[in-house]
Amino acid sequence: MALDNRRLAELAAHDDFLQRHNGPSDDDVAAMLATLDLECLESLVERTVPADIRLGRALALDPPRSEAEALDYLKRLARQNKVFKSYIGQGYHDTHLPPVIQRNVLENPGWYTAYTPYQPEIAQGRLEGLLNFQQMVMDLTGMALANASLLDEATAAAEAMALCKRANRKAKSDAFFVAADVLPQTLDVVRTRAAYFGFELIVAPAEELADADVFGALLQYPGDGGRVHDLAPLLAGAAARGIMTCVAADIMSLVLLAEPGALGADIVVGSSQRFGVPMGYGGPHAAFFATTDKLKRSIPGRIIGVSKDARGNTALRMAMQTREQHIRREKATSNICTAQALLANIAGFYAVYHGAEGLRTIAGRIHRLTTILAQGLRARGVELAHDSWFDTLRLTGVDAGKIHGRAMTHEINLRYFGNGDVGVSLDETTTTHDLDTLFDVLLGEEHDLSVAALDERIVAEGTSGIPAACRRESEFLTHPTFRRYRSETEMLRYLKRLENKDLSLTHAMIPLGSCTMKLNATSEMIPITWPEFASVHPFAPKEQVAGYRQMIDELAAFLVEITGYDHISMQPNSGAQGEYAGLVAIRRYQAAIGEGHRDVCLIPSSAHGTNPASAAMAQMKVVVVECDELGNIDTDDLRAKAERHGDALSAIMITYPSTHGVFETNVREVCKIVHAHGGQVYIDGANMNAQVGLARPGDFGGDVSHLNLHKTFCIPHGGGGPGMGPIGVKAHLAPFVSNHVVTPIEGVHADCGAVSAAAFGSASILPISWAYIKMMGARGLTRATELAILNANYVARRLQAHYPVLYRGVNGTVAHECIIDIRPLKAASGISEEDIAKRLMDYGFHAPTMSFPVPGTLMVEPTESESRYEIDRFCDAMIAIREEVRKVENGVWPVDDNPLVRAPHTMADLMDDAWERPYSRELGAFPSEAVKAAKVWPAVNRVDNVLGDRQLVCSCPSIDTYRD
Ligand SMILES: *Cc1c(COP(=O)(O)O)cnc(C)c1O
Repeated sequence: MALDNRRLAELAAHDDFLQRHNGPSDDDVAAMLATLDLECLESLVERTVPADIRLGRALALDPPRSEAEALDYLKRLARQNKVFKSYIGQGYHDTHLPPVIQRNVLENPGWYTAYTPYQPEIAQGRLEGLLNFQQMVMDLTGMALANASLLDEATAAAEAMALCKRANRKAKSDAFFVAADVLPQTLDVVRTRAAYFGFELIVAPAEELADADVFGALLQYPGDGGRVHDLAPLLAGAAARGIMTCVAADIMSLVLLAEPGALGADIVVGSSQRFGVPMGYGGPHAAFFATTDKLKRSIPGRIIGVSKDARGNTALRMAMQTREQHIRREKATSNICTAQALLANIAGFYAVYHGAEGLRTIAGRIHRLTTILAQGLRARGVELAHDSWFDTLRLTGVDAGKIHGRAMTHEINLRYFGNGDVGVSLDETTTTHDLDTLFDVLLGEEHDLSVAALDERIVAEGTSGIPAACRRESEFLTHPTFRRYRSETEMLRYLKRLENKDLSLTHAMIPLGSCTMKLNATSEMIPITWPEFASVHPFAPKEQVAGYRQMIDELAAFLVEITGYDHISMQPNSGAQGEYAGLVAIRRYQAAIGEGHRDVCLIPSSAHGTNPASAAMAQMKVVVVECDELGNIDTDDLRAKAERHGDALSAIMITYPSTHGVFETNVREVCKIVHAHGGQVYIDGANMNAQVGLARPGDFGGDVSHLNLHKTFCIPHGGGGPGMGPIGVKAHLAPFVSNHVVTPIEGVHADCGAVSAAAFGSASILPISWAYIKMMGARGLTRATELAILNANYVARRLQAHYPVLYRGVNGTVAHECIIDIRPLKAASGISEEDIAKRLMDYGFHAPTMSFPVPGTLMVEPTESESRYEIDRFCDAMIAIREEVRKVENGVWPVDDNPLVRAPHTMADLMDDAWERPYSRELGAFPSEAVKAAKVWPAVNRVDNVLGDRQLVCSCPSIDTYRD
C-alpha cells in the first residue's frame, strides 16, 4: 500500500504556482544570466547581497500548496467565521455592493492593479471616479472641497485635529475638545496622535464645548448612541471664539440630515464604507475628508483637480502635490501616501448608480424602519436614551443579559454598552422581516407588535426621529454624472469606458521603482469577496471570528519567519501608518525605560518622504544623514551625528536595500553605531522584495520594520490604495505596539493607544498575502527574490549602453531596482525625464518612478513577475526613445517640436487636419510593432500641472466643459 516519496511527489497536486507567479522561464533565466556573464543565479545573489547578512538557510515554512489547495484551506478557515446579522453600528454597517460594481470594479484587475494616478494621461478613468467621490462628499457634507480618501474615519479625525492646529495660528491653547459621544475607536486613535503632538484632550459632553478653552473640537453627527442634535449653535459659538471645528459624520445620515457645512463646520470627516463597501472585519474602506475653501492649501491626502491638456481640453490630475511628503518631508501636511483609492471609487460609483433619488430611498427606508422599531419599543415601555435618531437606538434600563441570550439564538449581534444599555443600528440590508425578529429579540416573543400597524401609524402621524432643525433642505448629486447611469447597461458601459482610459497591469509592466508592481494573482484575490470574510463586523465577538484570527495568526507567523522579528502588529493600514506605529512603539519603550527624553531621529537624505513626515508626527526631531557619492549612507557623518546627539538619539530610519537600489555592505555597522548610542533601528521594509528568503532585517540589526503588503506581498495597489503596513518588532518593543479599545490585543500594554480604527487594520485583504506565501512556500519566495534581482540586473545591463546607471553595489550589481540618470542627456538635448515618461505611454508603458530618490532620474523595478519577453519589450522602448533623443541632440528635430516633448499622442493628434510636425503621425502614435497590435490610447494630451494648481477645481466639471 505504501507509496514511496518519489511516487507521492508524482501524485501531489501538479499545478505549481511558482511557475505562474514568476515571469521568466528556466530558459529565460539561462539567457539572462548569459547576458550578465554569470553561470547561475546563486553567483548573482552572492555578488549582490552582502555575505554578512545572508540568511544561509531556507525559510522554515510549510511546503507550498497549489492554488486549489490553498483556496480550499482558506475556505475552511473562512467557514470558521460565523456571519451573524450585525446591528452593532459604531461606524460600520452592512451594505449591498451593487453586483455590477462588484464584478466590474472590485473583482476586476483593470481597476485593482492600477497604480496611483501620477501619470494622469493614462489614468483619466480612475481620476474621474475619484472626482465623483470628491463631488459626492462635497455635496453630502456641504463643504467646498474634499480629498480623494484617507485610511479610515479615526485617522481622518486625527488628521483633522492636526489641521485645526496648523490652520488656527491665533489660538494659544494646546487643548483639543472631543465630544463624549465620538465613536470610541476614533477617540482611541485621536488620543494616540494627541499624545505625540503634545496636545491635551478634553473629553466631555458636546454641549460643554461652549466653555472649553481649546484650539479645535471634534463632534460626532449623529452621536455614538444615535442622537441627532442641532450642531449649529455649538459650531457658531465655537467659531465666534476662534475654535476650529470638525464634525465626524455618518455618510448615509447626511442624505436626510442638514449638511455640516451649512451648520458651520470647518472640517467634515467620516467613512464611506456603507456606500457599497463590505465591512470586511475592519477594512479596507475609504474615509472622506472635506473642508472649507479657506483650508484648501493645507488639506491632507491626495486631491484630484481639474486642469487642461496641451490641446486645451479638460483633463484631470492629482493637485497640489507640493504639500505632500515627497516634497515637504517633515513639514508635509501629513504622512499619508497610500490611501484607499479603490474603495473611494466603489463608494463614488455606488452614488453614481443610485443617484440622489436612490440614496433618498435607501436612507429614507433605513430611517423609517428605525422609527418603527423606536415606536414599537416605546409602546412596550422600553426607554430610549435619546428622543432623536437616524438609524441607531440606544435602549436603557433593559435586561441586556436576556436580550443577549435571545440575540445569540437568532444569530444577531447588537451593541452592548458598558453600563448595560443595548444599541441597535439598522442599515440598507434591514428588512421588515428583520424588524419582527428584532422585536422578538429585544422584547421577548410575547410582544404582540405588528410592523405593518406601527408603520401605518408613523406614516399617518408623520413621525420622524430627525428634529426639524436637523433636516436637510438642500439638493445634492445634481451633476449629470449622478443622473445618467441608472440602468445596469448604462452603468456597465460607464465603468468599462473609464477602465479603458487607464493603463494597468492588464496591459503592460508597470516598472515603478520602490512600488513593486508584481502579479496580484486571481486566486489570491478570490477570497476577499467571500461573505465569510467580507460580511464580518470588526467588533463582532471573538467567538465568531475564529477563522479570521487563525488566518491572521498564521500570516503573522509567516512574516515573523520571513523578517526575523519576534512579533507582528497587524494594525497599520499603510506603509506610512506602519512607520508611525513603529516610531510610537520606540518612543513608548524608551519612555518605559526612563529614556523618554530621546527624540532625535536620524534619516538619510535619500529616504522616502514618508519617513521624515512620520518622524515629525511622532514628535521627533529629524536630523539628516548624508550619503556619499556612491549613494551609500556616509558612516562618518552618521557616527558624527550619533555622537553629537548621543543621549538625545532616539532612532534611525533606514531603507534596506537602500532607496538607491543597492545592498549597502555597511548595514550591520550602521545598526551597531546607532545601538551603541542607545538608539533604535527602524528599517523601512518597502524594499523587502529584494530580501525575502535571502536576508532578514530582524537578523542584521533592525528593531522594527513595516512591511508594505501591497508591494512585496501581492495586495494590489488599487489605483492608490488599499494597502497594509503591518510592523515586525523585536521582543522588547512588542508590548508597546498599538492596542485597541474595542478589541484588546494580547501581550500589548493596555494604555498603548490605537493607530487605526480597526484592531487588525484592513483585515479583509490579508488573505491575499496569506495565499501568496502559502502557494509560494520557502523555495518559491526565495526564487521570486532571486528573479526580482535578476530582472533588475538584466534591465540595468540592457540599458547601460544607452543611459548611465546611477548606483551599483560593490560588485557592480544592483538590487531589485535600478536608477537610470537622465540629467546628462537632458543637459545635452533639453529632453527631460518627464518627456521620456510621457513618451513611454506612446510605446504602451507606464513610466518608471520619476525623480525619486534622485531628481532627474528614472527608477526601474521590474519585479519577478515580468517575463523576459515583457522586459525586453520595455528595454527596446527605452532604447528606441534614446535614439529619438539623439535626433533632438543632433538637430534633426527641433527641441520644442519632436515626438518626446509632444508626448503622449492621442487620437485627437492623429485626426488633426493641421498636422505640421517634423515627424509622421505613425511615428507619433505607433512607434513600435507592439502598439500597432494593441494600443492603450492616452485619453488626453499632456496635462498642465501649473494651471491645475493655480486654479484649483476639485469638483466635477459641467458636461459642457468636456465639449468645448
Ligand atoms: C511605498 C513606500 C513607503 C510608503 O508606503 P505607503 O504604503 O504608501 O504609505 C515608505 N517608504 C518607502 C521606501 C516606500 O517605497
